[in-house]
Amino acid sequence: MLMPGPLRAGQDLEPSLLKRDGSLLACAGHVREKGSGAVLSPVAIVWPCPLSVDAYAAAGRGAEFPRPECPSCRAPMMFWSGYRRYVRRAGLCRKVFIPRLRCGSCKVTHALLPAFVLAWRLDVAETVGTVIAAVAGGACGVRPASGRAGVPYTTARGWCRRFSARAPGLGAGFAGLAVELGGEPARPCADAGRFALAALGSAFDAAAGLPGWLAVGCWRFASCVSGGRLIAANTASPWYVVGKRRFMPPVPP
Ligand SMILES: [Zn+2]
Repeated sequence: MLMPGPLRAGQDLEPSLLKRDGSLLACAGHVREKGSGAVLSPVAIVWPCPLSVDAYAAAGRGAEFPRPECPSCRAPMMFWSGYRRYVRRAGLCRKVFIPRLRCGSCKVTHALLPAFVLAWRLDVAETVGTVIAAVAGGACGVRPASGRAGVPYTTARGWCRRFSARAPGLGAGFAGLAVELGGEPARPCADAGRFALAALGSAFDAAAGLPGWLAVGCWRFASCVSGGRLIAANTASPWYVVGKRRFMPPVPP
């Protein structure tokens, strides 16, 4: 049985200081300890947090965080401090606590992101997803979508451009994941963006049949399986991870 365990994929540097317009002020990446000879890539670990942003923010360090094993060597990890960062939902910025986990064997720390966070992005996954779905799905242009979401036009345009650029890979990845999870394959579509959206829908439908995923929602699911890198700049093909299963997305033609 697949449980909604922590998911991870790809490398990540998690910004600790995001400016309120969504751009980056400075970043505190994963810390490789001095003297560590490990040649391991720190990765973001995204857990399928079902809490609202407000509930998560209010819980602070007291939230019930999962404690996943090391993504590199599978050893148990220890909580190792953390940092605070902003997230924006419905036009409101909240500061939330992001714990770090440390693997004693690898001597590497990893940020443990709640699924509503996208790496390097200020806005929550649902906001980003709603804009992308409207624009890539052809319902409206970027300007009305950004207006309804209450985010700057240029920010929304950046999301849509990135999604569009990544759409062939995301579509192939989500379509493969849907089949791996026993779901319906998404129907091929000439428009890469629409296909990626349909494939994400199919993958989420399949995952929603597994315990715990329905409550997480489609865009948090997308954040989880892509390790927070749904629209990240680095297009290095991530693993799609559900519970302890890892799926290598197919390379699009
Ligand atoms: Zn390790």
